[in-house]
Amino acid sequence: VDPPPSVVHAFRAAAAEAPQRTALAYFDGRLGYAEADALSDSVAGHLAARGLGPGDRVAIMLQNSPHFVLALLGAWKAGAAVVPVNPMYKSGEVKHVLHDAEVSALICSDRAWESYLRDAAADSPVRITLTACELDLQTRNDARVLGFERLPQAADAEDLLTVARAGTKAPEGREPAAEDVALISYTSGTSGTPKGAMNRHGNITFNAERQRAGHPLPEGAVYFALAPLFHITGMVCQLSACVANKGTLVLSYRFEAGVVLDAFAEHRPAYTVGPSTAFMALAAHPAATREHFASFLVISSGGAPLPPALVEKFRAAFGPYIRNGYGLTECTAPCASVPPEHEAPVDPASGTLSVGLPGPETVVRIVDEKGHDVPFGEQGEIAVRGPQVVPGYWRRPEATQEGFPDGELRTGDIGFMDSDGWLYVVDRKKDMINASGFKVWPREVEDVLYGHPGVREAAVVGIPDAYRGESVKAYVSLRPGAAAEPAELVAYCKERLAAYKYPREIDVLAELPKTTSGKILRRELRSRP
Ligand code: ATP
Repeated sequence: VDPPPSVVHAFRAAAAEAPQRTALAYFDGRLGYAEADALSDSVAGHLAARGLGPGDRVAIMLQNSPHFVLALLGAWKAGAAVVPVNPMYKSGEVKHVLHDAEVSALICSDRAWESYLRDAAADSPVRITLTACELDLQTRNDARVLGFERLPQAADAEDLLTVARAGTKAPEGREPAAEDVALISYTSGTSGTPKGAMNRHGNITFNAERQRAGHPLPEGAVYFALAPLFHITGMVCQLSACVANKGTLVLSYRFEAGVVLDAFAEHRPAYTVGPSTAFMALAAHPAATREHFASFLVISSGGAPLPPALVEKFRAAFGPYIRNGYGLTECTAPCASVPPEHEAPVDPASGTLSVGLPGPETVVRIVDEKGHDVPFGEQGEIAVRGPQVVPGYWRRPEATQEGFPDGELRTGDIGFMDSDGWLYVVDRKKDMINASGFKVWPREVEDVLYGHPGVREAAVVGIPDAYRGESVKAYVSLRPGAAAEPAELVAYCKERLAAYKYPREIDVLAELPKTTSGKILRRELRSRP
């Protein structure tokens, strides 16, 4: 099946074919396809009436909720590009994104505005104002802001309906084309200052259709949004793939293991995808049972390393096999995944779990510094070419040149491919530890730590060392009720890793720092005193 030009087209098609089917479920609220389509038309009408449209960028800073989806579809229907902003960002981070993308409007909750956005926007060239009324929009200088009131409570799904029920018509002739920029997605910033990748509508629908076609899910299946929608994995593999399958998307305000387990029991989802840390948290929750996972046909992990020990522990405890998938914001979520008829192989030498096989129409190469292919089994940088690869970064010609020579994405990830085409991610180029001239990849050490029965989460970083240059240090958090002394964990690693690789120091923390998309922040650990 050829993908439609945009998710707006897919949504309209679903609304025409299955108008009554639930598109979005949120706590006790449900929105049907036809209803959600009309409500987002009304949002589009509002935006258009305030002069927003093609050439404008609308920032959306919301947690997973129907509001997010209506705002997104509304902005796209008005012809604007959307800048998803992580609602957990601190004011400096928000400021960077709003300035860099030169947004014309911000859709956020009043609570976020009151608590810190007002400050973030205070001395910005994009001046932002907000009134506290529902769906109110003001134009002052060149700043336009739309606010949905009192967002965080579950019951407010109702309020939004009142809001978007103004019944305004969507502007005509603004349906996005496949080559239009749909999103300016700022990478999660695990390795530096975020840059805006320009995902086109066609990049999104290609990967959504691929995702839908690649999994044996019945039409209308229930998808659970474990990953945040402001992150590309949530946007594509959950929301867009669900719409392509005319399915029901279950939204939960933000990740909380107990709430998620209750929602699994209530909605009986067939599919979910999240970062591996989400599965670690679910598995460690005392209330989790096999029954919670009994409805799943596919569980995928993506966006972060998946330790093979977790896959096995999870299967033994709950039943499902977690499917690995690899992607980046710059290739609009996945470019490689584990097809349903396979389980991912584990590389015997390093113990690394494969991230899968490159998808259709996608060419993945392992290259040396000059961009030449390296032989099978040898490590190099992962490079990707395909219909999901973005044309570049927003207003960054140099970074685009460097990151996409000849239109091929250089991922910054080190990996290798076996002779059957299975792809393995070793680690990020930037995270390599150099201990007395020996290369240590944090992932390999982390995978060993995950094999320890008491370890819940592990992260390994290089710390300055007067003698070795850098030395290996690990941070772990433990499973509830588990007790493990640092010295015992060091001994456990020493038994399983070469002398230059095992961590000399291990700190046990209650929780490891993470991005809101669930990735462990090695950067933050590195800068700990
Ligand atoms: P920044 O680019 O600012 O550091 P980020 O890299 O976290 O942020 P994303 O695009 O969300 O931004 O993440 C993509 C990265 O996640 C990949 O480059 C890779 O390092 C990692 N990754 C994704 N999937 C996997 C996987 N299955 N196994 C290992 N690593 C993965």
